[in-house]
Amino acid sequence: MDTLKHGYEEKNYMSYMKFERSLNRYGWIIYVLLILADIYVRRQIANQSLDNKHIILQCAFALLYIIISYIKLSKGNLIYQKPRIVTIIKIFEIVTAVCLISTLYNSIMYYFVALLPITIVSLSRGFKGSIVYLMLGWATQNLSQHLYLRFIGGGPDYSHQFPCFYLVIISIHYLLFTVFCFIWGDIFNEYIKSEEENKTLIDRLGDKFIQLEQAQKEIQSHYDKLIKTNNILEETNNKLTTSVAEFFTLQQISQAITSIFDMNELLKFVNDVIIGVMGVYHSTIALCSGPNNKLKVQVSSIFDKKDLAIVSDYINCDIITQSSLEGHSMIDNNVNTSEYPFTKGRNIQSLICVPFFSKGRPLGVVLIEHSIKDAFDDENMRLLEVIAQQVSIAIENARLYQQMHDLATHDALTGAYNRLYFNDKIIEEFNNALDRGHDLSFIILDIDFFKKFNDTYGHLFGDLVLKTISKYIMKTLRKEDMFARYGGEEFVILMPYTSLEQAAEKAEEIREGVSKLIVSDRVISASVTISIGVSSYPETSGRPQELVSMADDALYKAKESGRNRVCISKPKSEN
Ligand code: GH3
Ligand code: MG
Ligand code: MG
Repeated sequence: MDTLKHGYEEKNYMSYMKFERSLNRYGWIIYVLLILADIYVRRQIANQSLDNKHIILQCAFALLYIIISYIKLSKGNLIYQKPRIVTIIKIFEIVTAVCLISTLYNSIMYYFVALLPITIVSLSRGFKGSIVYLMLGWATQNLSQHLYLRFIGGGPDYSHQFPCFYLVIISIHYLLFTVFCFIWGDIFNEYIKSEEENKTLIDRLGDKFIQLEQAQKEIQSHYDKLIKTNNILEETNNKLTTSVAEFFTLQQISQAITSIFDMNELLKFVNDVIIGVMGVYHSTIALCSGPNNKLKVQVSSIFDKKDLAIVSDYINCDIITQSSLEGHSMIDNNVNTSEYPFTKGRNIQSLICVPFFSKGRPLGVVLIEHSIKDAFDDENMRLLEVIAQQVSIAIENARLYQQMHDLATHDALTGAYNRLYFNDKIIEEFNNALDRGHDLSFIILDIDFFKKFNDTYGHLFGDLVLKTISKYIMKTLRKEDMFARYGGEEFVILMPYTSLEQAAEKAEEIREGVSKLIVSDRVISASVTISIGVSSYPETSGRPQELVSMADDALYKAKESGRNRVCISKPKSEN
């Protein structure tokens, strides 16, 4: 509160100074005019001769006033910081003004001029502040008037008036001054009050403004946090959406892997999924085959035969072969045709190639292509790699399954089917022939004197003979024929859509071919002959077992009748 009051006082001094400035600048005009007016009155109205005493005195007071005004104007800032000096100067000012008035001929008309310096006090410091100056003015006025009249004289003669004329007139004047000062003081109080209210209001407004600013800052910080959280959420959401899409894709593929057993069908499905997920122009899957792991296109979305032929022809180009054999993916969003010969004349601008790799073994590649530049990003490549990983496992599993299947159904030495598999197959083929009403012929062959052959050339060479004969026979057969090792050095051939006669011809061809085969290793060169028995459905046999037994009988006959020959079982009609 004290500081507030002090603040106000300071402010009042400032406004005091403001009022004072106008007075200091132009107040002297009043005093000069008063002196001139007094000269005029004394000469023209009072018919007095020019008296230097008055003029000197009046000019001295006026000069004093001007000096004080000048000091106040030039050193105002310093003076107004020291209220005590201000008070002393104010006293001087009042005294000078009062004394000057007292020297005027018609002083009673000009007492109000003394009010000028006092008014400023009441306007800037309130009524209470001006009381002392009023009293000072009143006292000085009385004293100066009395001294002037007594020692200098020359004023109008009011001796006919009531006693203490000047005292009463001065007192009336100062009473009026007091009322004026009271009114101005009231104005001052009102002004202070409104100032205080304004100040409180401004303070409150300031507080509110600070609060508002703080609230705004908090809101901004909350907003920033919200934006940040929103961004994180959006990012997470995007990742989640991608993950869900990825998960769905992978789930689709893994489901396909467990439900689609045909490798080609599976690859076709995977290819379709890739096209759907990536939104690519073309997707092609090529698998490794042969000892050099040469790539061979298995499935592709390329419809144009010419384009497909280009891809198939150049799939083993350096860059794809490198990716396939080294097991690294590659991405190119600005394809240079000279680097990728399979894109020649195909309007391909972007591509990704991801290898299928399992246990350090290359299995193939998936190649996706687009007709626009910058079509792919690392995220596409990563997803394709995940898909490729899954497909690689499926390919590897299929290969293992094929291997196991081969082991279970094939004879390890000759590569022909084994007897177990043959037993199943003959029933299946017999039923097919039965259903579709076509012929099914059966050939059984046995190497002649093989025991002796083994004894002569050794068991290992015997094995080589078995392998060589098997290879030769398999080569002469059709795709639909089935060649199996029935036991030891006995082999069987199942020939669908083949009549007894046709089978006999084939048997003869085989017999002759085998007899001409020269089997040789580094030291031995030898050849063997075979005996063959032939049977056929429906000509000689009506059941699978009968087919075997009838051919076996025929083989027996061939052996009996001298070996290296073909014997045909008798048609039913001849029995
Ligand atoms: P035949 O003309 O009457 O058929 O006379 P053969 O000596 O061939 O008589 P048989 O068919 O009974 O002889 C079977 C021989 O085949 C016995 C065995 O030494 C030989 N053999 C069977 N399996 C194998 C095999 O896996 N490797 C080799 N090297 N010889 C086998
Ligand atoms: Mg035998
Ligand atoms: Mg034999």
